[in-house]
Amino acid sequence: MAWYILRVRLSHLNMNSDLTSSPYIGRFAPSPTGPLHFGSLVAATASYLDARANQGLWLVRMEDLDKPREVAGAAQDILDTLRSFGFQWDKEIVYQSQRNEIYQQLLMQLISQDLAYPCACTRKTIQTLARVGIDGPVYPGFCRDGLPADKRPRTWRLRVIDNNVEFEDRVQGRQSQILSQQVGDFVLKRADGLFAYQLAVVADDALQGITHIVRGADLLDSTPRQIYLQQQLGFNTPEYAHIPVATNLHGEKLSKQTRAQPVKLRDSGAVLCRVFQFLGMQPPAELAHIGLDALWDWAITHWQIQHIPKKRRQITLIPSENDQR
Ligand code: GLU
Repeated sequence: MAWYILRVRLSHLNMNSDLTSSPYIGRFAPSPTGPLHFGSLVAATASYLDARANQGLWLVRMEDLDKPREVAGAAQDILDTLRSFGFQWDKEIVYQSQRNEIYQQLLMQLISQDLAYPCACTRKTIQTLARVGIDGPVYPGFCRDGLPADKRPRTWRLRVIDNNVEFEDRVQGRQSQILSQQVGDFVLKRADGLFAYQLAVVADDALQGITHIVRGADLLDSTPRQIYLQQQLGFNTPEYAHIPVATNLHGEKLSKQTRAQPVKLRDSGAVLCRVFQFLGMQPPAELAHIGLDALWDWAITHWQIQHIPKKRRQITLIPSENDQR
């Protein structure tokens, strides 16, 4: 559907799209599932430096849709941490938990185009009967042509096609994926009534006018789904750059589950220097002590996205258990 119609539809929600004419609008979109750890600080830093080095805007969006996974106080904690590391965002923070009406409108639009359909399959049925794909089971399409007579809808899915979705990632290079073979029709609205990440992220990136996405390579395999969804909704596709995910010595992504420690607020200069090194930069030793403003100036001047290692994962030192915030 054309932008015009979508904007008219959204206007009554007073959440109109914000199509600023800036040629670069980047963002950091944390999920408040815990405090900021080294891995999420890397993602924040890479997106921030890329935006600032390109004279762009940088927005923060709190991806707090999944209430069951949210940790109380984490959203505020993340924002406070970003602030104390010297990040400065442009515009007000957007909270996904306040945008259900927008996601519902977009879902209705996809339903009216016969692109989205209700599905009655349980997770268990799918897990038992489906082939394993790039990100869990590939939905076998049982409800594609209508729900069985005695079944109620549980989820809403997007109909995908056999075409290859291709894109050029600024770090990882050329990527391609055949959604029908590697993912299958994917969920837009979950059985618990929550909107799926894929729909919300596409909606918000488009409505916030995001032109450049820099984020962890754990989301590389989701990108073709997002590009396909953008195409169905008539949205532009941003430029993508997927940076290596920070892992511990066991190769596990730093996260709450792998007991990643919150980043230290003391010695923020030294911590940021480690982040810069992770991103392929070579900060001089004295940079850690010159103050945050000068440190960010140095990093913005020296930012070269082509220096980021072209890996999906990269080991970092496990922060010591004794590190205090
Ligand atoms: N909220 C997601 C996360 O914290 C990131 C989404 C994105 O950058 O697209 O993993």
